[in-house]
Amino acid sequence: MALTGIQILKMLPKTNCGECGIPTCLAFGMKVAAGQIEIGECPYVSDEVKETIGEASAPPIRTIKIGGGETVTTTGGETCLYRHEKRFENPTGLCVLVTTDMSDADVDGRIDRFNNIRIERVGVLMKADLIAVKDTKGDEGAFTSLVQKVLDNSSDANLILMTDNPDTMAAAAKACGDRQPLLYGANKDNREAMGNLAKELGCPLAVVGSNIDETVEIADALINDGLKDLVIDTGARTMRAAYEDNIVARRAAINKKFKPLGFPTITFPCEITDDPLMEAMVASVLVAKYAGIVVLSDLQGDTLFPLLLERLNIFTDPQRPMVVKEDIYPIGGPDENSPVMITCNFSLTYFIVSGEIEGSKVPSWLLIKDTEGLSVLTAWAAGKFGADLIAQFINKSGITEKVKHRELIIPGYLATIKGELEEELPDWTITIGPREAGHMPAFLKEWKVAA
Ligand code: SF4
Repeated sequence: MALTGIQILKMLPKTNCGECGIPTCLAFGMKVAAGQIEIGECPYVSDEVKETIGEASAPPIRTIKIGGGETVTTTGGETCLYRHEKRFENPTGLCVLVTTDMSDADVDGRIDRFNNIRIERVGVLMKADLIAVKDTKGDEGAFTSLVQKVLDNSSDANLILMTDNPDTMAAAAKACGDRQPLLYGANKDNREAMGNLAKELGCPLAVVGSNIDETVEIADALINDGLKDLVIDTGARTMRAAYEDNIVARRAAINKKFKPLGFPTITFPCEITDDPLMEAMVASVLVAKYAGIVVLSDLQGDTLFPLLLERLNIFTDPQRPMVVKEDIYPIGGPDENSPVMITCNFSLTYFIVSGEIEGSKVPSWLLIKDTEGLSVLTAWAAGKFGADLIAQFINKSGITEKVKHRELIIPGYLATIKGELEEELPDWTITIGPREAGHMPAFLKEWKVAA
């Protein structure tokens, strides 16, 4: 059972030294209980206490890492049923399947698309995360050489190895070295051997049941064998069954603390339908409802992009606005005569405004003021984007060393602060820009330094 802040406080030194970055041990204990800070941030707790608190404050869905180095895919770690209760922690891993009975061209195409379909949006690089390699021929040589091919040709793909033969799995997993794959998996017949292999290699292990009850039995046995890092496949191969099983597993783990289902799930839209559009639709349902990993038959931009976008939306923390850094952003190679604009640091505002400036082909300087992620009007209403704060920022930003003129274009929605800003910045001419970013290109094309 999760510990309360007071229970955690009893195990802390209670010196209120502040070295953890929190002023008091009580506040620190509260944050640990809320999952907002790790117990290890206090340098004075013993390993024994760390273990006790760490276990007790662990999320009900275990956090599982697949891969190694900087390209780890993290799944699970979830603590709530609904995003608005707190946030969803780790985005669903998107995976493409290659098999030993595919032609070289089919495999190469999938690896190419894995490597090349990458889209940047609001400063986030969106892409698929994993490649599942499946031994469909029962041929160890063909399986290990396909695994090697994927390893050699996709430097940032994390792997899922799919075979039910423990010897074949051992050979392929050893070829992966530090890029620790997910071993898929342990069924009722090979559980012991797969469990031992996962322990020996330190790899996460998938539990493969034919239905949710069998999955629970196998997971329970593996937990008793000392396995901790599991991913569960309940065997569901219809959309309805996969959807229901994901919900049952999440509810059982969060509401009842039911350990055998307290792991991320792996789901297979690629085995639910042969229709690519239907497959994308099934995947979208499973991304929304709790899948830890979804395995797709192929990656195509027109179906992957909506999934990536859906994932970005669902796994963005609703309590923390996405922001960009306060700074001067040159767009299109501006010089000393280029226009200077200012706006807030809400990511969406920045990317929309900078996109319109880029599209106008008028080289410009865009000043981004820290408004704690609030949009222009909200920031102004909250006192974070007033004339005095804008003037302070302009004076310390260094923009005067980059341009000869002294004309500042402010967002149209801030027209009311023009006079105040002119008083705060007596050397500057303040020009009111458009209200809508879409009108920026026409505005900039007409712009000339005020006389
Ligand atoms: S570092 Fe430890 S002892 Fe110091 S205030 Fe934080 S929790 Fe308390």
